[in-house]
This record gives sequence, C-alpha cells and structure tokens, in this order.
Amino acid sequence: MTAAGTWRFLIDVAKCEDCNNCLLACKDEHVGNHWPGVTLPQPRRGARWMNVVRKERGQYPHVDVAYRPTPCQHCADAPCVAASGGAIARRPDGIVLIDPDKAKGRRDLVESCPYGAIDWNEELSVPQKCTLCAHLLDTGWKEPRCVQSCPTGALKVVRLDDAEAARLATTEGLLPLHPEHGTKPTALYRSLARFEKCFVAGSVAAETNGVVDCVAGANVTLSRGAEVVATATTDAFGDFKLDGLEEGSGRYALAVSGPAGRGIRLEVEVTTSVSLGVVPI
Ligand code: SF4
Ligand code: SF4
Ligand code: SF4
Repeated sequence: MTAAGTWRFLIDVAKCEDCNNCLLACKDEHVGNHWPGVTLPQPRRGARWMNVVRKERGQYPHVDVAYRPTPCQHCADAPCVAASGGAIARRPDGIVLIDPDKAKGRRDLVESCPYGAIDWNEELSVPQKCTLCAHLLDTGWKEPRCVQSCPTGALKVVRLDDAEAARLATTEGLLPLHPEHGTKPTALYRSLARFEKCFVAGSVAAETNGVVDCVAGANVTLSRGAEVVATATTDAFGDFKLDGLEEGSGRYALAVSGPAGRGIRLEVEVTTSVSLGVVPI
C-alpha cells in the first residue's frame, strides 16, 4: 500500500451481522455537527449514509440471510458528479463530496445515484451522503467512524491505487457492487455471492427397517447436460447446500448417491434459492 492512491471501502458481506453500530457511529459523528469543506450536519432522522441492506434466501427449512453494508461507492466515473454541474466533485484521493452551497435546492441529485446513496436533507434543503469521514482522514485518522465501530471486521478502508486494488481483488476474490451501472465504483466487496447468487438445498433421508433417518456423507451432484455445476457432501444432519448459482438459470439434474447403492435423481428448476425439503433415497 502506498500513501497515494484512492481511499476505498473493503466490505465483507459474510461478516456483517446487521448490528448497525456503523450507522449509529455515522450519526454520532455527523448529526448536529458541521464539518466545513466536507458536509453540513446530518439530520437526526431518515438519513442512512451507511445503509445495511438485508437479503433472505430459500424457504423453510433451508433459509439464510445476509446483510450488505451499502454506503456511497465513491465512484471513479460518478453520474452524480456528471449531473451536478460542479456541485459534486471527486477529490484526487478518490473521495466524492457534495458541496452544500453549490448543491442547495438540488433535490434532483438524489436520483442521479444508481446505488441510492444520496439522501435529501429536507431541513437544510441539500442532498447528502457518506463523506468517507474526509474530515477525519484529512487529519490523520486511519479509518472513519463506521469502520472503527464495526465489531466484526466487516468494514475496512484502504488507500490503494487502481493497479493495487485490481491485484487485491484478484487474489482475494473481491468484487465491485453492480459494475453494470458503469460508474466504476471503488468499494470492493467480499462474499457478494451471499447477496447475488442462489442455492439449492435439501435434507437427505433414508428408511431402514421402518425407521427414517438422515443420511450423512451422501454425495450430491448438480449438473446440466454433461457439465457438473456443483457438488456437495451431506453433513451429519443429511443437509446439503449447493450455492453460487445464477438466479433464473433454469433446469438442472440433481443426483444423490448414498450408502448401500441408494440414490435418487431429480430435476430442479432454479429461479431463485430453493429448498427441496426432505430428499428420500
Ligand atoms: S457495524 Fe459491522 S457488523 Fe454491524 S451492521 Fe455495520 S458493517 Fe455490519
Ligand atoms: S455511489 Fe452514487 S453518490 Fe456515490 S459516487 Fe457513486 S454515483 Fe455518486
Ligand atoms: S465513512 Fe463516515 S460518513 Fe461514511 S458512512 Fe462511515 S461514518 Fe458515515
């Protein structure tokens, strides 16, 4: 890491537990406080500069939930900057800031962000968003308030140039959020699949001498034509979960192979995450 480069969030969806310490720390830092050159005060109610979004997947009994902290992505090619006529600017260190004087009355700028990261401050009549706590980073703080308050390590900030960030993304499997917006977001996410992909899950069980019991150690294979898409082995409860599938990706063949030559083949239609319930073999 070099001193120069772009400040950027690193966000781990798998570590976020929805405690909202980050949101509260942001409010503690910004509600009632004016940071000249950075932002006017945040309103007490309504603003979510660090917005933790929830995603539930599956159906009973195979359900999971993930949380995605979603602040301003401090985009390198930001449509909010383009729409603002000079009221929003990206600093050389990558922090995108709204000038409250130039942006006064510009409610239209709320709609300019495809991530929904800009809130409207009705009382002050200004658009507002995450500043990356520039007033703190500029005075030597190593991290903003939300990052400091996160108990699980789900939030980090780093200062990396684009080549360093690309290397990190490759080696650690980090992804930008919705790159299809074309805004070149600088935040990088780990475990985004928890949000953007879906799963097929089930519980394998077998009947022996009139007693139905779960089957541990069964091999489960999901395939399409000759291609094996995912494999799993059932756990001590007979459960399996084949994750990382594309939503709406259509029909697959599911094969379960258990002990004593027992098994089953099923067709599974994947529109979103699906629980097959008990899969008897
Ligand atoms: S403080 Fe950390 S764990 Fe808690 S909601 Fe925020 S990002 Fe998630
Ligand atoms: S996330 Fe939205 S508000 Fe933030 S820089 Fe990108 S376009 Fe602008
Ligand atoms: S970096 Fe600062 S302004 Fe942005 S969400 Fe975190 S605490 Fe709020």
